[in-house]
Amino acid sequence: MNQEKTGKFIAACRKENGYTQAALAEKLGITDRAISKWETGKSMPDASIMLELCELLKINVNELLMGEHVAMENYKEIAEQNLIELRKQEEQANRRLLRAEYLLIIPTVAAALAMIVSGGFVAATNIVIAIILIALGAAVLIIAIVNGLMIEHNVGYYECPECRKRYIPSMKAVVLAPHYGSTRKMRCPYCEKRGYHKKVLTK
Ligand SMILES: [Zn+2]
Repeated sequence: MNQEKTGKFIAACRKENGYTQAALAEKLGITDRAISKWETGKSMPDASIMLELCELLKINVNELLMGEHVAMENYKEIAEQNLIELRKQEEQANRRLLRAEYLLIIPTVAAALAMIVSGGFVAATNIVIAIILIALGAAVLIIAIVNGLMIEHNVGYYECPECRKRYIPSMKAVVLAPHYGSTRKMRCPYCEKRGYHKKVLTK
């Protein structure tokens, strides 16, 4: 696989089919930045979106991965193997990121809280150190929470329990949603119903 070649091929096929980056992004329910990243070879389309993308570009998955039009008897079989492999990679990458989130964020939050609490303890004896500890703790806490929310937002998808559609919510929706664990109460962009949407790792 050659990411750059695939990127140029995506751009060429997109233009052939009369789509702007924005129009193609809208059809796929993703951002046009994602498409720009594929086309410049910075990333590959997720396995979950490949079939839909290929359908729109009127190519097959094997051609997408090869970055050119190919005539092969058994391309279907090869493409399916590629898809399964890519899906596995996406799942693993997402699982790693979520694990990193918990490994990194939880100790950081604990350390920040410890700083704030010890700041409270020394307040009576040394007010300057207390203020420094509390301010530092608060800053670290905010950074940890923002980072956690960003990972939470960027990894995987949320699934609507009503219509079973999987989607990426806006950052604002993630921040404002009541949640337990990684399940968040949000409004589904497809059926508009509010409910507890579970985090899933692939589309
Ligand atoms: Zn729904």
